[in-house]
Amino acid sequence: MERSSELFARAKEVLPGGVNSPVRAYRAVGMTPRFISRADGAYIWDADGRKYIDYVCSWGPMILGHNHPIIREAVQKAVMDGLSFGAPTQREVEIAELMIRMVPNVEMVRMVNSGTEAVMSALRLARGATGRDKIIKFEGCYHGHSDCMLVKAGSSAMDGGCPDSAGVPAGTAKDTLMAQYNDLTSVQQLFDENPKQVACVIVEPVAANMGVVGPNPGFLQGLRDICDREGALLIFDEVITGFRLAKGGAQEYFGVRADIVTFGKIIGGGMPVGAYCGSRELMEHVAPCGPVYQAGTLAGNPVAMAAGLAQLSYLDTHPEVYTAIAASAEKLAQGMRQAAQETHAPVQINQVGSLVAPFFTPDSVQSFSGAKRSDLKKYASYFGNMLDRGIYLAPAQFEAMFVSAAHTRADLEQTVAAAKSVFESL
Ligand SMILES: *Cc1c(COP(=O)(O)O)cnc(C)c1O
Repeated sequence: MERSSELFARAKEVLPGGVNSPVRAYRAVGMTPRFISRADGAYIWDADGRKYIDYVCSWGPMILGHNHPIIREAVQKAVMDGLSFGAPTQREVEIAELMIRMVPNVEMVRMVNSGTEAVMSALRLARGATGRDKIIKFEGCYHGHSDCMLVKAGSSAMDGGCPDSAGVPAGTAKDTLMAQYNDLTSVQQLFDENPKQVACVIVEPVAANMGVVGPNPGFLQGLRDICDREGALLIFDEVITGFRLAKGGAQEYFGVRADIVTFGKIIGGGMPVGAYCGSRELMEHVAPCGPVYQAGTLAGNPVAMAAGLAQLSYLDTHPEVYTAIAASAEKLAQGMRQAAQETHAPVQINQVGSLVAPFFTPDSVQSFSGAKRSDLKKYASYFGNMLDRGIYLAPAQFEAMFVSAAHTRADLEQTVAAAKSVFESL
C-alpha cells in the first residue's frame, strides 16, 4: 500500500482526484486506489508488488486475459513500421472486413478512438439520417461522456452522485428523453408524446453499467418493433457486449437486428479504439460520402488497429472462447449464489454471458430501480475485504465483473471462497 499511497498523494496534486477517469479514484468505496504496475493473464500486480485475480480486465477489453502473446507480438511488429501516418493503411481495411464478417447487419465501419466517440458519432448519424433531433436513452445506461448522454447516466456517473453532469447545456439535455430499461411502455409513451421527432433509441443490450441487468424476454425485439413503427433507428451500444456475448455481439446472441452498432473496449485489444457501423445506405451519410461530418487525426491508428485485428482474428478463429468464458462466469455466479445462501447474506448474483454482478439486496434485480436498492455500504465493505483477499473487483457497485479466457478453475474457486468468507462477515 505504501507505494500506491505515495503515488496517489502525488497524483492528487496534478490530476483532478488523482486520476484520469473518475471510478479509478475509489471514492465509491472510500479507499485509496492501488496503482497497477503490470498484468499477465488473469492477474495484475500493484505498485507494492501485491498480486490480484483481476475481474476488471481494463473494464472489458482484456477478454483473452492480459498480455496475450498474439496481441503483444502484433503490436511489437506494428511499432517497428511507425506509430501514425494520418493516411489509409491496409490493416484498417482488414479489420473492417473482419468485423463485417463477424457482426450481423453491418456493411460498413468507421473507426474512432473511444466508445464515447463512437456513440457521439452514431447519434449524429441517426439525427442526420432521420432529420429528427430527439433521442431516447434508458435511465442507468452509460454511453460515454458526450453531452447528450450525460443525462441520468449509469457507471461512475452514478458513484459521484452526478448522473446529470454540470456543464451540459439545458438545450442539449432537453432532446434526450428518458425511458426505463426493461419497460417497453415507457418507450412507447415517449414516442406518443413526441410524434415524428425521435431519431433513435439507444440501448445497452445488456445493461452493464448499473451492475449487470439482462434484457427481459421480448424487450429488445419490442424496441425493434417500436422503432420500425415510428420510423426511428435502433442503436445497440455494444461497447461492452460487442465481441463478448458472441462473435456477432448482442445482435447474434439475442437474435435482434440493430440499425447502428457501436463498439469500443474489446475491439482495441487494450488500445484506444472505438467504431460505429451499420448498413451501407446508412453509413454513406457519413463524410466524405454524405453530409454527416466526423473525422479523427488518430482514427484507425496503425498500432491500435494491429492490436484490435489480432484480438478479433483470434476470437473469430477460436469460437470456443465464448462457451468457455460463459461457463466460467456461470460457475462463478453459481458459486457466489451458494456462498450467499450458506451464509444467509442478502446478495443477488446477476450473470449474462461472461458478465457478472452482485447486488446487496434480498430482492431479484431486473431493472435500474432494482439495482439502486443495493446496499452501497455493503458493496464497499465487500470490495475492500475481497481486495484484502487478493481479488480485484470494480471499485463501485454499478459496474460489471468481467470474466476472461485466462481465468482458471482455480482462480474462480479462490474467488468464490473469498466471497464466502466476506459474505459471512457482512
Ligand atoms: C465504456 C462504455 C462507453 C464509453 O467508452 P469509452 O471508451 O470509455 O469512451 C460507452 N458505452 C458503453 C456501454 C460503455 O460501457
